Amino acid sequence: MNAAGPGVFMAIHTIIEPFRIKTVEPIRWTTRAEREQLLRAAHYNLFLLPAEDVLIDLLTDSGTGAMSTRQWAAMMEGDESYAGSKSFDRFRESVQGIFGYKHVIPTHQGRAAERILFGVMCKKGDVVPNNTHFDTTRANIEFVGAEAVDLPIGEAREPACVHPFKGNMDVTGLEQLIERVGRQHVPLVMMTITNNSGGGQPASLENMRAVSAVCRRHGIPLYLDACRFAENAYFIKLREPGYESKTPKEIAREIFRLGDGCTMSAKKDGMANIGGFLCTNDDVLAQQEKNLLILTEGYPTYGGLAGRDLEAIAVGIEEALEEDYLRYRIVSTAYLGKHVADQGVPIVQPPGGHAIYLDARAFLPHIPQEQFPGVALAAELYLEGGIRSVEIGTLMFGAAAKMDLVRLAIPRRVYTQSHIDYVVEVILEVWRRREQIRGLKLTYEAPFLRHFTAHLEPA
Ligand SMILES: *Cc1c(COP(=O)(O)O)cnc(C)c1O
Repeated sequence: MNAAGPGVFMAIHTIIEPFRIKTVEPIRWTTRAEREQLLRAAHYNLFLLPAEDVLIDLLTDSGTGAMSTRQWAAMMEGDESYAGSKSFDRFRESVQGIFGYKHVIPTHQGRAAERILFGVMCKKGDVVPNNTHFDTTRANIEFVGAEAVDLPIGEAREPACVHPFKGNMDVTGLEQLIERVGRQHVPLVMMTITNNSGGGQPASLENMRAVSAVCRRHGIPLYLDACRFAENAYFIKLREPGYESKTPKEIAREIFRLGDGCTMSAKKDGMANIGGFLCTNDDVLAQQEKNLLILTEGYPTYGGLAGRDLEAIAVGIEEALEEDYLRYRIVSTAYLGKHVADQGVPIVQPPGGHAIYLDARAFLPHIPQEQFPGVALAAELYLEGGIRSVEIGTLMFGAAAKMDLVRLAIPRRVYTQSHIDYVVEVILEVWRRREQIRGLKLTYEAPFLRHFTAHLEPA
């Protein structure tokens, strides 16, 4: 991995994993013949594979990270008191130190924070703009009868287009939307950092400042979907003029000062295996949110989590902002993207923070959209090397899908460079024999969220 960071002796260019390994979890090899059989038994849907039959699991970066010695040590300090737990105080202090909001409400994961936020703020007929809504965010908005509107910049819709801040929101589009539907129908604006559904792409501070100014002018609160706030802050340090010498923590604080609150999944940049939270500066909303929290999540000092989980998150959000970690994180994701793209493999450019997205329509142009090129490619990566990825395309969204992508999400602090070198080799091998890959057809689909349980077979 190339790119020396500050503090590294200048003649040395190799980026290493900034940790040593204290506990190991064996991963299991399977033979190609076994994988052929396993794939048939899973009906060519990698969600249906037992995890132990996967060698390198890039299905998601959510809740799959490795915790540090400091996190495990903090977990032993977990105070499991029902009310007034000391772990909650530490959790709140840590969250406030970075996010800066007055009220911190723990939840069992990000979608619970979303459900409570939209349950309190939105009603039927409302419209909630976002750069791009994540699928649980959209579902929770639609569940209360409101409309979720995506307003990414135009560049975000073209996989091959390179732009430093493809996660930016279309500010003119936002103004026009507010104008068209009326301020009274826009209870809040959201901004997702980084933009997960848009390829893990960051938003710039300049753009967030412009969005925030529009919101202030209309008196509309701005909330951040902060799941990958640390990765977004580091991209700003690398790419936005004026932020080179700021720390990721300073940048994160500046981002959150632009908003009125946030939702967070601690399974991403919280570096924890479970958890989330909801923040707001609004006293009245906070009270309503806590009332809802007690109904389904738990008492406000634990919110569906154990005291030890609160401890792990309190340490995790700090570790996610460490520069050595972020440099390794961003460079290693880019390393995977660069090594396959250099050989002609079509990917969403530039590489995002947490994942590389293969463009399956460009990879397999001979497979029509209705034969699921993304699912076929994901199946082939498993067959070739035991790698699990996920299709984001026609199986997930139906015929209206704008792209057929295969996402390779990198769990935090889990795999080393040699694992990634192996993934590169497997992708390139599949690339070499791409013309032999065949499409698939559906044999079973559920009435909603069909990608989780669908059955397929060769077309
Ligand atoms: C994962 C995620 C969520 C939902 O969080 P969960 O912890 O999975 O419920 C919301 N928004 C974004 C951008 C995410 O990546």
